[in-house]
Amino acid sequence: MLIAGNWKMNKTASEAAEYCAALEGRVAGLTGLDLAVFPPFTSLSAAVRTLADTEVAVGAQNVHWETEGAFTGEVSAAMLRELGVYAAIVGHSERRQHFGETDETVARRASAALEAGLFVIACVGELEQEREAGETENVLRRQVSVLAEDDRLVVAYEPVWAIGTGKTATPEQARDAHAFVKSLLDVPVLYGGSVTPGNAAELLGQEGVDGALVGGASLDLESFVSICEAGAAAA
Ligand code: PEP
Repeated sequence: MLIAGNWKMNKTASEAAEYCAALEGRVAGLTGLDLAVFPPFTSLSAAVRTLADTEVAVGAQNVHWETEGAFTGEVSAAMLRELGVYAAIVGHSERRQHFGETDETVARRASAALEAGLFVIACVGELEQEREAGETENVLRRQVSVLAEDDRLVVAYEPVWAIGTGKTATPEQARDAHAFVKSLLDVPVLYGGSVTPGNAAELLGQEGVDGALVGGASLDLESFVSICEAGAAAA
């Protein structure tokens, strides 16, 4: 059971250090869980330092496929590895929606990160109109088909209509989508999309749900701890 907190563009380095210092003590007793936080690039170093020698891993929210070069605004896997970063998210729907990320660039980012030794959470998920048009499985098949099985690869099923909206997939929708992704690729699959302390136990209790990628609710320490506790109970 993996519980991952995606902070998006939130928390400065000092805020990250304060949060991580408090988090460590609150989750130390939880068993059966892998835990990770994904701060913005500028807060990675503070998070890595604060969580050194703890069970909580630190990941980045994106990673480029080249090791260095003329790619303004991008960060390579080697740069992340040297900082002590353990994982990277690729293909988050906010990257796909606002920054032109495509299945092809997601695949390139994922394979470069895996090759460099990072764990990868690759995000997939359908838009609301795609679900309404009965296209969910076709979209997931297209997005997953560019990824190759790897011991360090995790997929996050994040229906786009559920991200940051307060809407969540029903337990049946989550179960079906996870089963479908797993039929394509034999990797752990996280659920993401408005996971909160109120719905975490039910979602994490579904067959095929191997954890959660938590956005908004991971910013508040108490909410995140409570979701981690639900994860430990479901593990
Ligand atoms: C996310 O950022 O991956 C996410 C699922 O966000 P939220 O939990 O806020 O919907």
